[in-house]
Amino acid sequence: MSVAAAPAWLDEERLDESAPVVRVRQGLDATRQARPQPSAQLVDSFGRVHRDLRVSVTDRCPLRCAYCVPLDDPRPLPRRDLMTAGEIVKAVRVAVELGVTRVRLTGGEPLQRPDLPDIVAGIAALPSPPQIALTTCGIGLDRLARRLARAGLGRVNVSLDTVDRDRFKLITGRDRLADALAGIDAACAAGLRPVKLNAVLLPGGNEDDALSLVEFALARGCELRFIEYMPLGGRRPWRRDQLVTADAVLDRLRARYRLTPLPGRGHSPAARWLVDGGPGVVGVIAAVTHPFCGDCDRLRLTADGQLRSCLFGNVEHDLLGPLRRGADDAELADVLRGSVWAKPPGHGIDQPGFHPPSRPMSAIGG
Ligand code: SF4
Repeated sequence: MSVAAAPAWLDEERLDESAPVVRVRQGLDATRQARPQPSAQLVDSFGRVHRDLRVSVTDRCPLRCAYCVPLDDPRPLPRRDLMTAGEIVKAVRVAVELGVTRVRLTGGEPLQRPDLPDIVAGIAALPSPPQIALTTCGIGLDRLARRLARAGLGRVNVSLDTVDRDRFKLITGRDRLADALAGIDAACAAGLRPVKLNAVLLPGGNEDDALSLVEFALARGCELRFIEYMPLGGRRPWRRDQLVTADAVLDRLRARYRLTPLPGRGHSPAARWLVDGGPGVVGVIAAVTHPFCGDCDRLRLTADGQLRSCLFGNVEHDLLGPLRRGADDAELADVLRGSVWAKPPGHGIDQPGFHPPSRPMSAIGG
């Protein structure tokens, strides 16, 4: 039985002395179990138990964000290749029976699906309903927030990289800042909690917006998270030396705020800090410079029914085919287990031979 090369996240890394650290389990993480262990859960060969399912319900989006949609702007998937609402709810039901407790609906832009409230209601009606969250660019949320909340949506993450109209247009390719802000306010008014804001800082683009974004979020009681730019598509090739790192962001924030680390990160991708003693919180998702793969419990399902055990993986397992062939729950469960079992130890961005996923972020989902 070969011992896989120790992945980067096996080395204990600290953002800084007072920041919460990602503790890795000793022993098991370095040795891959040779064959799947019979389990009623979604466990990978490193022993990580998966409870978080991210379902991309479409690859269509009204925006063209620089770090997400490739320059050639790929044609969206034909509608017949997209999972139907019934297929999505069935896949989620089987996953919940295997221990999934959190479901996040993503895209492209999930609000582009007219039947999104039905999908939310179908998941909320499951015998032991999971927590239901949404990741959106906010365009259209002003019209749908209340209806989605009534259908069973609990929380929402809205992408917002700047509160400056011109820079918003530059980054997203569209003059829609007002619509995104209206969506955020509607989510807050609809009682969705928490309302989190996701900001990707691009060097020479919006890195000077960090403080104005924090001010905006604090004023609305939203939790802002800065996400390191990742090699997942986008208008230009990703370069590691062109990254606004998590540490650089924190240095900017500490110049104005007192940041107190919050313990108990668990499986969450974000490290979090109280701002000026609270209640405001800010987070950083440092997938590149401080990877957190050791505690990853996320599995993804694309809009065309492909399972991806890692955001950066290039291996997909087909769930839509068995679904459309009328596979029973046990067969579908085996496909889910098999996908998780084959999960790589981590994203391997710093490993020689790393290849970004062939599928762009716009067709994977957050
Ligand atoms: S890169 Fe892959 S393994 Fe690492 S946290 Fe993200 S999804 Fe999980």
